[in-house]
Amino acid sequence: MKIDAYVVDAIHAPFVREELTIDGPGPGEVLVRVVGTGVCHTDLNTQGGDMPLPLPGVLGHEGSGVVEAVVEGVDNVAPGDHVIMGWPYCGTCRNCVRGQHRYCLNIGPELLAGVRLHGPDAGSSAYTRADGSSLSGHFFGQSSFATYSLTRAIAVVKVDKDVDLALLGPLACGITTGAGAIFSTAQPGPGESVVVIGPDPRKVDTGDVIRKQISA
Ligand SMILES: [Zn+2]
Ligand SMILES: [Zn+2]
Repeated sequence: MKIDAYVVDAIHAPFVREELTIDGPGPGEVLVRVVGTGVCHTDLNTQGGDMPLPLPGVLGHEGSGVVEAVVEGVDNVAPGDHVIMGWPYCGTCRNCVRGQHRYCLNIGPELLAGVRLHGPDAGSSAYTRADGSSLSGHFFGQSSFATYSLTRAIAVVKVDKDVDLALLGPLACGITTGAGAIFSTAQPGPGESVVVIGPDPRKVDTGDVIRKQISA
């Protein structure tokens, strides 16, 4: 199907809107109509060449949206469900087997290979340009700077429909990074103090970035 996506052509090139073709979902995959996406500094690092995603490619990794299609065998979500797209993981390494998906030993290629790593189409990208050439997608398993995202069923989290879906994408990266540092690593107890270092949210309009929506 045709989608609109923001493509980075080469290191330091701008995000340029372009019509692409995306494959439909294969085994274990979910097609999501993107409703909102955060813009994370990692997207800009990748645009700047600090992350080894082969370019050209579609970035974006804090997406939320509505499930459009799944294939038989995917039973954790169904079309119409509202979801946040989280990080992918291999599911078979030592850390994944222990339930520590965020420490997946294969996280590098899972996030940055630019191609599918699982299923019958492993090794190929689901994204094609108008001239027939292939480009990187599957960035953090989602490439959310697009009207549609092909992600893996294991990476999506269903959310209540009465919550503003457009705002939820950053829960999968920016917010879990901070919350994970506190709840999983620091684990402060009652009466203990923590120091949070960062910009004063009253002075920085992060909402302006977070609310960046990609229209269908
Ligand atoms: Zn991020
Ligand atoms: Zn793993």
